Amino acid sequence: MTEFAVRREIVAAARQLEERGLTQGTSGNVSARFGDGMLITPSAVPYAEMIAGDIVAMSFDGTVRNARRGHRPSTEWLMHAYILTGAPDVNAIVHAHPPSATALSCLRRDIPAFHYMVAVAGGTVIKCSEYATFGTRELADAAILALGNRRACLLANHGIIACGTSVAAALSLAVEVEALAEHYTRALSVGEPTLLTSEEMDRVMEEFESYGR
Ligand code: ZN
Repeated sequence: MTEFAVRREIVAAARQLEERGLTQGTSGNVSARFGDGMLITPSAVPYAEMIAGDIVAMSFDGTVRNARRGHRPSTEWLMHAYILTGAPDVNAIVHAHPPSATALSCLRRDIPAFHYMVAVAGGTVIKCSEYATFGTRELADAAILALGNRRACLLANHGIIACGTSVAAALSLAVEVEALAEHYTRALSVGEPTLLTSEEMDRVMEEFESYGR
């Protein structure tokens, strides 16, 4: 895939975040691995106005290689760089502040196996990280810890991270995580959901693997 094609994918995903109500204003950011570095949404550019040329090219150590119109990379570039360097099978990352998942993150609650679709993130739980200030190395570390070997997590009092083998896969997982958070908060509002057993979740994860999810 050409650099221009990846830039266009990132812009399309960023617009979807806004259109699907997964993030508000200029919050949230999208990145994709490209060559030995990454392409990432710029800081403070409204998604509706963003074009492929606005996406910032940078190396994982923070060196900006190509940024038009004086754009700076997303304030969360370090979190994206840490995850991409630590997980070779991850090619794209979506970070957003979706309403239900962010509400749960403020309660510092993991999303347990209350629904079989929790396995879509690659485990029997979607963990909530420890709290750290946005844009810091501490937040990047907290995100890595909460992800473990899974592809999504909540960031305490902040939002979510979803990873994928492609930008489309990361966006689709972000949508799934928000749907799960919505179902979980609704269930919690009227009672205590019954959790699925670990045997059942193992079976679900096996099925998901055989579908190639
Ligand atoms: Zn954020």
